[in-house]
Amino acid sequence: MRVLVATLMLCAGMAEATPDHIDGSQTQSSDPVAVDESSTTSATRSSDAPATITDERRQQVVMVSPRPKLRPARFRKITLGRERMRKRGAVCDDWTILGQTVKSFTGKYRGCGISDPVRVRMISDIELSQKSLMDCRTAVVLKTWIENTAKPAFADMGGGLKKLHVVGHYSCRTRNNLASTRISEHGKGRAIDIAIFQLVDGTLISVQDGWNAAYARGALRKLHSGACGLFGTVLGPDSDQFHRDHFHFDTARHRSTPYCR
Ligand SMILES: [Zn+2]
Repeated sequence: MRVLVATLMLCAGMAEATPDHIDGSQTQSSDPVAVDESSTTSATRSSDAPATITDERRQQVVMVSPRPKLRPARFRKITLGRERMRKRGAVCDDWTILGQTVKSFTGKYRGCGISDPVRVRMISDIELSQKSLMDCRTAVVLKTWIENTAKPAFADMGGGLKKLHVVGHYSCRTRNNLASTRISEHGKGRAIDIAIFQLVDGTLISVQDGWNAAYARGALRKLHSGACGLFGTVLGPDSDQFHRDHFHFDTARHRSTPYCR
């Protein structure tokens, strides 16, 4: 008799503790377990046996499927992730481009300046040696080149690419600083000059020393040809005396076909 009372008390406790009443307030439970309390099986079920679901209750469970209620939670997670990324310094609506947004500005010469500029410090985990001022279109093109060309070009060298040594970004000046030429794409925030590629193991590969050197010429030529088309203008050591020691990439908007030398 004492055993029977104890068993009944245990069952009553289980009935209270188990979320067997599936109603609207409990539908957020991600994995509801239905227990058939009307059945006598609960009295005979051992404590670790799985709960049984009758056809009627299974229908109820299906009707209150928690799936639609999970979506807002997932969206909340995405929103939180975006907030975290903004705090991390993501710009240009791209989580892999890190830096700061800057107010639009004009320069000392007509034609200079950038609207909605960004000061970029890292792209796709590759550091820029100096925070580089540019517009978002240029930043996104640079990111594409880094991911599709620069990283693969150095994948088998020195542990891979780590840092770009930038020797030019925004600068309100004429092309190659020559008098009576047009405003450089640098003056519009559409250009970047890169002189050295630093690898994870510390190796420095400069455009000037590596362009015709056996250890680097293959990689450097891949960087140059991979930029052509992505950027409107691509200049390297074979172009002219002004680019012997760096690559100039810009997103010139006036060209119908890319200019790559
Ligand atoms: Zn340049």
